[in-house]
Amino acid sequence: MEKEKKGLPPREDGLLFVDTHCHVHPGSYGGETEDVLRRAEEAGVFRLLVVGGREAENSMAAELAEGHSGGVFASVGIHPHDASSLFAPSGEGERIFEEVSSLARRERVVAIGETGLDYHYDNSPREQQREGLRMHLRLAAELKKPVVLHCREACAPLLAILREEEDLPAGGVVHCFSGTREDGAEFLEMGYYLSFAGPLTFKKNDELRQIFRDLPEDRILLETDSPYLAPHPFRGKRNEPAYIPFVYEKAAEVRGMPPGAMALLVRRNAQRLFRWQDRGAEEGMLSE
Ligand SMILES: [Zn+2]
Ligand SMILES: [Zn+2]
Repeated sequence: MEKEKKGLPPREDGLLFVDTHCHVHPGSYGGETEDVLRRAEEAGVFRLLVVGGREAENSMAAELAEGHSGGVFASVGIHPHDASSLFAPSGEGERIFEEVSSLARRERVVAIGETGLDYHYDNSPREQQREGLRMHLRLAAELKKPVVLHCREACAPLLAILREEEDLPAGGVVHCFSGTREDGAEFLEMGYYLSFAGPLTFKKNDELRQIFRDLPEDRILLETDSPYLAPHPFRGKRNEPAYIPFVYEKAAEVRGMPPGAMALLVRRNAQRLFRWQDRGAEEGMLSE
């Protein structure tokens, strides 16, 4: 990275954002990955968590974080969509999870996931999703790293498993929260953070905004989940972290806060959960 690129991102309002969940690796953006990261930095993003979900993506996420130690961090795991890969025959499933476990030990890998349950798409058999989730929870407990949970139309069974397994010393986050107010209350009660993405900006999601408005301020996180779920006015297009200001703007509006206060709040919450080595925004996210 050339010297001129260092320093505060050129946002006129000086706001700085964290994107606590995105899939910015070559598996999503191919050769454009570095451009996507640069655009994020120009938009004011100074910390981001690159989340893996499939076997090949996990090593990409870890390598990306290791190549950009100014502010890129990684999380590794097998997404519930791909939980069946953990049970592939002839030792292949074991090998896949061993690789996750070994990547998870790296310093720049600050979280385990995404894992969880997706009963909407049911891309993997539910029994395998549940077993895969338990494997990730045990790994997170062993390594004392937070877990990144995906939950779609499966909050009740997810909560049941979280209760059955041992408590996680480093807690976790339910990303792109889409459950009910009651589900949210139960996750909070168990100490989890709730993270919100583009759907917070979608016109019809008043109920989600009301849930968000009433959350305790020390449990809120914001994310893009890019390349999915682009916020309004980019809905339906390929998402990227550079669009996260639209999520922050809506979040601040819903809670009646100045945008700078919202940015600071999420930054602090993310720091508390992921405990990433904050070298300060002055470094530049993409420095090596
Ligand atoms: Zn997810
Ligand atoms: Zn995701």
